[in-house]
Amino acid sequence: MSKHIFVTGGVVSSLGKGLTSASIGMLLEQRGLRVRMQKLDPYINVDPGTMSPYQHGEVYVLDDGSETDLDLGHYERFTNSPLDCHSNYTTGQIYQSVIEKERRGEFLGQTVQVIPHVTNEIKDAILQPAAPDVDVVITEIGGTVGDIESQPFLEAIRQFSLDVGKENCLYIHLTLVPYLKAAAELKTKPTQHSVGQLRQIGIQPDILVCRTERSLSHDNRAKIALFCNVPVEAVIEEKDKSFSVYEVPMSLVEHGTDELIVRKLGLNAGPLNLDRWQDLLHRLRNPEHEVRIAVVGKYAEHRDAYKSIYEAIDHAGVHHRARVHIDRIHSEAVGDEGAESMLAKVDGILVPGGFGERGIEGKVDAVHFARTRGIPFLGICLGMQCAVAEFARNVLGLENANSHEFDADTPHPVICLLDEQKQITDKGGTMRLGAQPAKLAPGSKAAACYGTEEISERHRHRYEFNNKYRQKFVDGGMTFSGTSPDGSLVEAVEVPDHPWFVGVQYHPEFKSQPTRAHPLFAGFIGAALQRRSARGKSTV
Ligand code: GLN
Repeated sequence: MSKHIFVTGGVVSSLGKGLTSASIGMLLEQRGLRVRMQKLDPYINVDPGTMSPYQHGEVYVLDDGSETDLDLGHYERFTNSPLDCHSNYTTGQIYQSVIEKERRGEFLGQTVQVIPHVTNEIKDAILQPAAPDVDVVITEIGGTVGDIESQPFLEAIRQFSLDVGKENCLYIHLTLVPYLKAAAELKTKPTQHSVGQLRQIGIQPDILVCRTERSLSHDNRAKIALFCNVPVEAVIEEKDKSFSVYEVPMSLVEHGTDELIVRKLGLNAGPLNLDRWQDLLHRLRNPEHEVRIAVVGKYAEHRDAYKSIYEAIDHAGVHHRARVHIDRIHSEAVGDEGAESMLAKVDGILVPGGFGERGIEGKVDAVHFARTRGIPFLGICLGMQCAVAEFARNVLGLENANSHEFDADTPHPVICLLDEQKQITDKGGTMRLGAQPAKLAPGSKAAACYGTEEISERHRHRYEFNNKYRQKFVDGGMTFSGTSPDGSLVEAVEVPDHPWFVGVQYHPEFKSQPTRAHPLFAGFIGAALQRRSARGKSTV
């Protein structure tokens, strides 16, 4: 029978519950345990697919096509837990399922209520990843204790321990212990209040993980322990990590977190093996080269909007032992100020995915700059589509070539709606989503990176290269280095007489791991390093 760990958060949002949960998952795996990760999000959207990145950061896509919260990206980067549609539930999904059951008559005669119907549905969701061969399921509850939407989820996890036995559940609460400059003190009261709120609904946390900018003194910990009704050893300090998120597990180990969890849940765990992780941190801390990459997108100021892309770039840096400086560049600013002034110093240019017309011309300008100056270029999804439009306009002479998404009247719709999308009107969960196989052309840069010609990558798009233009592009010198296995959909494009110019219709960033950089990102950063060293400045 699987044991269950619940991770809740208090005081403020953005404390890093996802990273802490992922780090705990990683540590338990490195003690030989089989772990499954799950996130419950209290918002009412069925999934984050229809939310703006300003609201929610990136949408993280799984192999099975689920559009999920970006914390699932942390789970995949830190752990080996397989993830699928049962790994992320929202209030929207829970209610949808309850209401469908009601319509089918499954609750005939009853009044359908939050308790027990909604809470039962949540408890069923929590049980989905549990299995005889799974030692621990870690379920993170999104939001902050006290949020009105969180109530049914907290009530459900309270009931859960009665159902499966207290000894099989562990509650970890992440809180903030702020430092007040005026008083020159760390303040424990917000943590006391937050735990007080949890206890009011019947949850006594077993472990408190305290986010703080300064180390907690023994007195601080003793005070928190007394007021929050936990032993002092269960008050864990998690100090801010300015260097890398991959340090978080180390600080948890330092304070005995893995051992405490293993003991409290009675898990049959082995010794902790952190060799791989130590090697990763060593490489991160001791780079031998450096390189500067521009990411040109319309959410440049928003760190979470291109989360997996920034991570994948860092992983490729680790692979090459290079410190990567990322210039987050506003595509609209490129349009306004000109590519030269914004991109002249970089060694590589990446244009990420996106939707909507804003900033498109700046992205096309960035592609043009990369292509004509021989700067390594990686275009992802919309980035590839911009590369196609740029090539059409400036190499093939197809004036005003564009994607139908941005210009319904373009004379040259080089990117058009996928056939399968033409009848679809609903916006939620209806794109071409998830893992799809593709074949790569022998001798292409993509095939060289992957070291194979058969790949599977995750997708999230409605538009595709317009096959009517294929011959024109081939004649003009662009190659289609990746297609769907039947050849009908373009999956990758390249410009062979350029040092490194690759555009892909899919999202390689979702499959990059810190200790196993994605081959395309590794190829891209490798090319950028080469360009930098050719200009005589690659070492740190
Ligand atoms: N908006 C484009 C499409 O739907 C690109 C999508 C993306 O970049 N994820 O095809």
